[in-house]
Amino acid sequence: MNELPEWCPPYSSQKRDISTNEEVYCICKKPDGGELMVGCDGCDDWFHFSCLKISSNYKELVFSFFCPYCQAGITGPGSLSSGNLPKTIWKRKCRLHSCYKPCSENSKYCSEQHAEEYIGGVLRRVESKERNSVSLTRQMLEAGDLSKIQLLGKQGIPPATREQNSDLYDSLIGRDKKLKELREEQEIIAKKEMPRIEQEMKALKEYSEWLKAVNSRLFDSVEEAVSRKSQKKKKALKRKSICGYRSQLTIPCSVEDFSAQFQEDVEELHDICCRMRCSRHQDWAGTMQDALQFQIESFETSSQRLALLVKIREDQLNSQFHEQMQRTADLQHAPRTEERVQVAQLT
Ligand SMILES: [Zn+2]
Ligand SMILES: [Zn+2]
Ligand SMILES: [Zn+2]
Ligand SMILES: [Zn+2]
Repeated sequence: MNELPEWCPPYSSQKRDISTNEEVYCICKKPDGGELMVGCDGCDDWFHFSCLKISSNYKELVFSFFCPYCQAGITGPGSLSSGNLPKTIWKRKCRLHSCYKPCSENSKYCSEQHAEEYIGGVLRRVESKERNSVSLTRQMLEAGDLSKIQLLGKQGIPPATREQNSDLYDSLIGRDKKLKELREEQEIIAKKEMPRIEQEMKALKEYSEWLKAVNSRLFDSVEEAVSRKSQKKKKALKRKSICGYRSQLTIPCSVEDFSAQFQEDVEELHDICCRMRCSRHQDWAGTMQDALQFQIESFETSSQRLALLVKIREDQLNSQFHEQMQRTADLQHAPRTEERVQVAQLT
């Protein structure tokens, strides 16, 4: 079992108000007052967006919702079997920052119009960034800071190595907190988050293959028999299949066992939705895949951003390292110059 979020009261099975006998819902156990609500796919109760601390902006983005009690395994599929607890699945949001509509099929945007708006915005940002870098170079030129401009050149800043000055290297670069944090974030994405999503992708793929095998075992023979009777009908014949949605993407039993236990008109078997034309979970596999793909893409974006930040931090530290090396060298040379002057005055 998972823990409930801090703001969520303990589970209560209360269904009616004690004094008014009105039907009550949600974690707040209040009647339906017309506020925005979402139905739970695990326990069939209804929940207020506001009680769940979900912004009403997300109302069109719910694909499959599980309440805190189902997510914790107190109610719903997680309370009946061990294994992964169900999680709410969101539809992919339109890429335009201010838009909370789901993406239309095969698109990263809700509409053509928002695609244009988003791309227009990116172009404007790129253009202004270019202008900024031009003006930065100009400022440096005006300030006559040649060393900084040289550092911007292709070579970049020469790397600082421990051999050059181990004490300085350790104190400045080896123990830099910011650099350490950034590298830790990189590690988490590479070693934890990405493998986790890849694992989920793999589970989805394996489950989908199992489901395909179940569907063809259940319906293929019937279909062939029908289509042989009338070749004309074949085209019009819609492939029969069960929905197959399951909140935990684990394979419950062998294809043979499932087919043997299956009976038409049963809505659920092994927590698997067996409806023939299920509108509730329409294209659930595609939506899940999109959601995972979206997570992969955003981790990739984060990785790129982190790599850039690491590079910037390393450059900063490298140039500090070289500056301090230079200063130390200057200090060491200074007395010798004085000595030479004194010698010159004496002779
Ligand atoms: Zn509520
Ligand atoms: Zn629930
Ligand atoms: Zn949009
Ligand atoms: Zn279904």
